[in-house]
Amino acid sequence: MRSLLLVRYGEIFLKGLNRPYFLRALVRKVQQSVEGLHAQVWLHDGRILVAGFADMDEAMARVTRVFGVHSVCPAVEMDKADFDALAAEAVRLMADISGSFRVVARRSDKTYPMDSPEICRELGHRVLAAYPALKVDLHHPEHVLNVEIRDKAYLYVRVIPAAGGMPVGTGGRAALLLSGGIDSPVAGWMIAKRGVELSAVHFHSYPYTSERARDKVLELARLLSGYCGSICVHVVPFTHIQTEIHEKCPEEYTTLIMRRFMMRIAEQCARRDGAQALITGESLGQVASQTMEALNATNAVVTLPVFRPLIGFDKSEIIEVAERIGTYETSCLPYEDCCTVFTPKHPATRPKIEKLVESEKHLDMEGLIAEALAGVEVVTVTG
Ligand code: ATP
Ligand code: MG
Repeated sequence: MRSLLLVRYGEIFLKGLNRPYFLRALVRKVQQSVEGLHAQVWLHDGRILVAGFADMDEAMARVTRVFGVHSVCPAVEMDKADFDALAAEAVRLMADISGSFRVVARRSDKTYPMDSPEICRELGHRVLAAYPALKVDLHHPEHVLNVEIRDKAYLYVRVIPAAGGMPVGTGGRAALLLSGGIDSPVAGWMIAKRGVELSAVHFHSYPYTSERARDKVLELARLLSGYCGSICVHVVPFTHIQTEIHEKCPEEYTTLIMRRFMMRIAEQCARRDGAQALITGESLGQVASQTMEALNATNAVVTLPVFRPLIGFDKSEIIEVAERIGTYETSCLPYEDCCTVFTPKHPATRPKIEKLVESEKHLDMEGLIAEALAGVEVVTVTG
């Protein structure tokens, strides 16, 4: 008899011919997640099993964070021949349970001497005999005692919800514009959840922004990499571009011109990294640079698709996710972002693209972009 984790996957079951490919990718990700725990991970009978670890809580915490895992059940695997031993274990598993329950038995071994209804009835009786305060509810039970009779018997009660989504790496790669704020880490997490590998691009305005602001962003990338594997962060010097814009362009347009520079540079970093899309943490109407007109103006300078997974989220909803995924506290550390250093008093909310283009003519666009790209520092972070 031994404890193991029974890993259930979500959407992969929708896949047709590609299913083995997605499953293998998921097994690899589960294996990586338990590295250092001396656990074995294998695919058996269409399900993923994890065993051999010393620390159940740690193994659970790691596996439930893997994108593509729908839920994890701490289970007991035992010999199926001795039904009394099996029933005794079922009774032990139900020890902390109160309220209503039912037994669900699945029998893939059709030679087993009892059929599924018999197993359910017999185990139900024994559990009730041990805990008379429990009630059976076949339709809406609070708990389900699951028994699977395969090559061995598997018993479990607890089903722990996991991250969901698709295994990272099955959905290509995208470049996240990562500020030190609350929104962009959440946006990156949401796209990674759909199976996408991330790289990141961060713009800093040293010495207007501090070394600690840069460290904060690297820490956010590290937190994200705990979900999606290592992330290549392109740290881009942005000070010269910002001072040029500040000096030579109308104040009301400075934020948008700056954002257009960010998009152009991020697109180049993305192409270097083999990324096929950009990701931002923008949400419609949140600030002046996120009105529909402003979003059109920043979109207009790139050809890669821009994913904005938070577009319909309220700030409070974004914060909820940030708290859940563990980035909120770091995002709230009070260091300056390059956007806040040069904020205009009255930014344009309905910019005309022609006016932005006209203003940009005062700048040596190509020279400034080339200079920024030449100064990029690439830092690889791992969770
Ligand atoms: P966040 O909380 O993610 O900083 P925000 O609400 O502060 O977002 P903005 O400052 O307008 O909004 O930025 C919008 C998006 O532009 C960010 O979500 C991020 O994707 C990108 N961005 C902003 N500043 C930077 C930066 N310094 N480096 C990289 N990307 C940035
Ligand atoms: Mg910001």
